[in-house]
Amino acid sequence: MSKVKKKVKVIKIDIDKCNGCRACEVICSAFHANPKYSSNNPARSRIRLIREPLRDVYLPVYAGEYAKAECAGRDKYVLDGKEYSECDFCRASCPSRDIFKEPDSGLPLKCDMCEDDPPQEKPLCVQWCINDALTYEEREEEVEEEVKLDDMEVGLESMADKYGLQKVMDTVARIGKKE
Ligand code: SF4
Ligand code: SF4
Repeated sequence: MSKVKKKVKVIKIDIDKCNGCRACEVICSAFHANPKYSSNNPARSRIRLIREPLRDVYLPVYAGEYAKAECAGRDKYVLDGKEYSECDFCRASCPSRDIFKEPDSGLPLKCDMCEDDPPQEKPLCVQWCINDALTYEEREEEVEEEVKLDDMEVGLESMADKYGLQKVMDTVARIGKKE
């Protein structure tokens, strides 16, 4: 496989600085609302807060890849005296929990680094985090060229998992006939 140069965008999360204000969820969900900025439902946010105020647990997690099956293990981590479930750190939109799913359609959500139209110079969640729990940096890396599924394919794949491929194909054919 050939190597290509790729700009890698990194958001560094300092969980010690996060106070659970949820401003990041508000701006992300507003930016991705349709029409843009028409609502701010955290369920549509690509960053979610794992919050347990009584235990002083505030953990921002970004939506990553879609996973069609839940994993079998549930390991626990103890960090700085606080216990976390492995799921708390997981970025997947998966069948075993509600986060990172578009609330109306159930389709998986994924952080797009605010490259949606209009693209933002710096991720909005970083701009809105006044506690500097989220900081942004870019670097260049040599990586192997890969073929990636685009968002539409990921969406269709998850619909096929949920409703069956034939049903999705029948629906697409029916919509096609209507146009
Ligand atoms: S980088 Fe943009 S898309 Fe990703 S979680 Fe932050 S606000 Fe949402
Ligand atoms: S905006 Fe920053 S401090 Fe507030 S919840 Fe998000 S990561 Fe934490």
